[in-house]
Amino acid sequence: MDEIWIQIIIFFLGLAIGSFLNVCIYRIPRSDMSIYSPRRSFCPECNQSIKFYDNIPLLSYLLLRGKCRHCKAKISVLYPIVELVTAVLFLAMSYQFGRTLDFLHALIFVSVLIPIFVIDAQHYIIPNVISLTGLILGLGIVCTIAYHGKDLDYLKMRLIGFVAGGLVLWLIAFIGSAVMRKKAMGGGDVKLMAIIGLFLGAWPELPMVIALSAFGGAVIGTLLIVTGRKSRQSPIPYGPFLAGAAVVVLLWGDPLWEKYLQLTGWN
Ligand SMILES: [Zn+2]
Repeated sequence: MDEIWIQIIIFFLGLAIGSFLNVCIYRIPRSDMSIYSPRRSFCPECNQSIKFYDNIPLLSYLLLRGKCRHCKAKISVLYPIVELVTAVLFLAMSYQFGRTLDFLHALIFVSVLIPIFVIDAQHYIIPNVISLTGLILGLGIVCTIAYHGKDLDYLKMRLIGFVAGGLVLWLIAFIGSAVMRKKAMGGGDVKLMAIIGLFLGAWPELPMVIALSAFGGAVIGTLLIVTGRKSRQSPIPYGPFLAGAAVVVLLWGDPLWEKYLQLTGWN
């Protein structure tokens, strides 16, 4: 098959997965719903179930001009954004990793990170069911890659990443809470960091994720306070920054690390 067709299929696969992630993002934080029930998607305003032709990723939002067909309530622009971001990230991973197991690994990883990013930003929680799913899928793909390449070091580095990631963030949370005399970070962040370590490995990926996320959090946090969208006291979730940093390191970790070594004169 032509490469262009493969890319198009990957893009549409990303839209479809993004659409499923939207269901997770809406339902998992709401305890009265599960992923499977109600089976059909529905409008949160008028509770009408949404017909399949109004539920096509991206396209339906555009055709309906962002409004429910029945009650004309606004549909959150977040839905098409999540679908588009998922599709674009799938394409980016395809260009980066080609047709390899690493590509599958990257698809699984971003599909776990995207709902964590959005749910933590909206609700200040990282649901255990997503962390647990990430852990199981992560173990599965990491073991598969290690087995396929007969690479025990790969597996070792990922398992060390899992333990070290959780431990380092737990320590930061512990010290942060002691210094600031309030809860600095949740257990959700600790579990997320363990999963990031499992997918990316320990060195140099873990310190890169921590440095990038801390930098991003400081910049965005300052912007939010300066523009008056948050007060100095209001909590800012850390999960989105960890997830964002993990994607950056997944895509550009090697060149970033090279650059860092050059700039600091270690190389
Ligand atoms: Zn409606």
